Amino acid sequence: MGSTGSIGTQALNVIRRHRDRFSVEVLCAGSNADLLVEQALEFGPNAVAIADESKYAQVSEALRDSDVKVFAGEESIADLMEMGSIDLVLAAIVGCAGLKPTLRAIEHGHAIALANKETMVVAGAIVTSAALRHRVPILPVDSEHSAIFQCLLGENGVDKIILTASGGPFRGFSRQQLASVTLEQALHHPNWSMGRKVTIDSASLMNKGLEVIEAKWLFGIQPEDIEVLVHPQSVVHSMVQFVDGSIKAQLGVPSMETPIQVALAFPERIESHVPRLDFARYSDLTFERPDRTTFRCLDLAYQAIARGGNMPCIMNAANEVAVQDFIEGRIGFLDIADRVEAAMQTAPFIADPSLDDLFQTDKNIRKQ
Ligand code: NDP
Repeated sequence: MGSTGSIGTQALNVIRRHRDRFSVEVLCAGSNADLLVEQALEFGPNAVAIADESKYAQVSEALRDSDVKVFAGEESIADLMEMGSIDLVLAAIVGCAGLKPTLRAIEHGHAIALANKETMVVAGAIVTSAALRHRVPILPVDSEHSAIFQCLLGENGVDKIILTASGGPFRGFSRQQLASVTLEQALHHPNWSMGRKVTIDSASLMNKGLEVIEAKWLFGIQPEDIEVLVHPQSVVHSMVQFVDGSIKAQLGVPSMETPIQVALAFPERIESHVPRLDFARYSDLTFERPDRTTFRCLDLAYQAIARGGNMPCIMNAANEVAVQDFIEGRIGFLDIADRVEAAMQTAPFIADPSLDDLFQTDKNIRKQ
């Protein structure tokens, strides 16, 4: 799911190199019909779905001479997740839109390779209990969570998780400097090439906040035992400290193909063309505490998960809308945190929300 995005296309690069091992059963996209068709012709899936219904005719016409079945609409993506022929679903839709089809895949017993962190932020309790109930593994794709997952293999006695952050393009900026930054500057991430939304989240440190919440649910670790450390080189992808003081880290050059491949091939390790880490080139690995006063989104995320209930959902929905407004030039960069905070202060709180409550909260906040 999300095959036309940054994670989706990189996952298809991995699959292209390991055709003997993986085959593509379904491809789902939002609205990029041209790329979806190109991918369908190359990978020959059983079915494709495009969320934007107005693109149905274009996709089905282009695939008329193939055996690929074509569907359109968000509901059809969730419906395709019921197919018994699927072994594993790569959840790489951006935003809360990924929640429903991911849950449907879990309910039908498919392993999940999870890139779509918003799914865990919005409904971590519901998603993790569904995965337990259906005995479905959730394999992290986010590079930090993949690192933690790898560090935890065969371990016990965890003391804390150290989640590394690049610091984004505005590391070291003052509030005054942030007040006038442009979209172009915000999209210029120093180490990673990613979709627009996650790139803006990285610049505001909301991405790290979302990842703290994601880590809580994936690894059952309380947020106060998750430390965020800025590591501008993005070589140490995250670390785990154990009760005896030992620390394990997972390292590599910054490439999302590694964590994608780890999730797809787990529990095996398979060959990769990703350049090897040359320690001599990276002799200067540095670490510093994040500036939580200037980059307020990180603390807002800690507050949201401490409050629990539908608060992370409120925060996420407000952030998704604010980021879109920033991308479209309607608000400034600092307004993102202000908007999120305002939503968290005013939206009705639900301590123990059902899935419907969460969808309704998401809808209300977007409208507001
Ligand atoms: P992109 O914006 O590059 O891609 C998003 C994908 O989701 C596209 O395929 C898009 O389709 C699809 N999509 C958007 N809306 C819908 C919808 N309503 N229904 C169905 N499909 C939809 O994002 P990324 O690949 O960067 O990120 C995807 C997820 O992975 C995010 O949650 C992000 O936080 C997470 N992630 C990303 C990383 C990265 O390096 N990119 C790293 C770690 C996590 P289309 O393009 O056709 O409109």
